[in-house]
Amino acid sequence: MLPFVRPTIEEEDIRAVTQVLRSGWITTGPKAREFEVALERYVGGGAHVRVVNSGTSALEIALLAAGIGPGDEVIVPSMSFVASANAVLRAGAKPVLVDVDLESRNLTAELLRGAVTPRTRAVMPVHFAGLAADMDPIEALARELGLRVIEDAAHAIGTRYRGRLIGGAGDLVCFSFHPNKNITSVEGGAIACFDGATAERIERLRFHGIEKFADGSMEVDEWGGKMNLPDVNAVLGLVQLPRLQGFVERRRELAARYRERLPRHDCLAQPAFGQGHGWHIFAVRVDFARLATTRPAFQARLADLGIATGVHYPAIHGFAMYRRMGYGPEQLPNAHTIGAQTLTLPLFPALGEADVDGVCAALAETLGEFEA
Ligand SMILES: *Cc1c(COP(=O)(O)O)cnc(C)c1O
Repeated sequence: MLPFVRPTIEEEDIRAVTQVLRSGWITTGPKAREFEVALERYVGGGAHVRVVNSGTSALEIALLAAGIGPGDEVIVPSMSFVASANAVLRAGAKPVLVDVDLESRNLTAELLRGAVTPRTRAVMPVHFAGLAADMDPIEALARELGLRVIEDAAHAIGTRYRGRLIGGAGDLVCFSFHPNKNITSVEGGAIACFDGATAERIERLRFHGIEKFADGSMEVDEWGGKMNLPDVNAVLGLVQLPRLQGFVERRRELAARYRERLPRHDCLAQPAFGQGHGWHIFAVRVDFARLATTRPAFQARLADLGIATGVHYPAIHGFAMYRRMGYGPEQLPNAHTIGAQTLTLPLFPALGEADVDGVCAALAETLGEFEA
């Protein structure tokens, strides 16, 4: 069975992790700091980067660092992993779910403007699948309205927007290093920010609120969680980072091959291609209803042919907890359609050209069967 995602773990990675395990210091320490410095150099733009134990923690801490709390509204695209909206709830604020563009699957400034209320304090653009959201108009509108911008860049380490890497500019930018993402620390995440005081606040928020002084004493002046990244994890991210550019280039090659080889079919829509795409996932849309089938049945048939597929993602506003907040499918039609039709095809650096061709052939065969 061909998986739809597989982390790239090589001997170099195993050696690095083993060395940390033997070193006598396995939790947060020198490797976490080295990973931060390497990420700062990588994204550029003078960013301060702090690592945490997941992308979800990165979002939760970024919201707190931006001063978001009870009574505030944060605008979140409904086409994302549910963690984006859940993080807003964790901060005590209200996630206001908005629609996305059907092609890019991203939030736009226009959609953002339509959801702003007097309580809106922040917006959380998601660079979906590794394609950057069009940030210039979103940031211009945020400046006009005095909103903080917390980027969910979980899909976008290695993505470029107008030539510069995501994380090298902005307000607060959150990354994930979950095994499915473009580089991994098993679990892990990072926050990029653009001033030293915020970076220090993030350090306190991720570890019990503790501030340490040069003489060895400490103070706790506000709440902080337990969201630090162990060195065992950090070292894996550290040795993967220099290979990220190669991973992204390989993902681009494979995406280009999909574009060329995928069957042309009325019920199959290809994802948007765009400048700087990091190709975290390659997700087509299949009109299962028009084929008179369901996604699980279609996926089962592909699995029979040896192809595993994923679903990224059901629209957030369709989940029971969010439906209870008053959302219905008709309110956010593009996110609803994408959520109903999306199908993630295998894409990871170790995938071969012949694998892509095999997926395309299996898709053609499956589409043909359901049509019949
Ligand atoms: C993976 C992901 C997250 C959460 O990251 P974790 O490291 O799994 O906590 C948040 N948002 C999006 C869009 C993601 O894909």
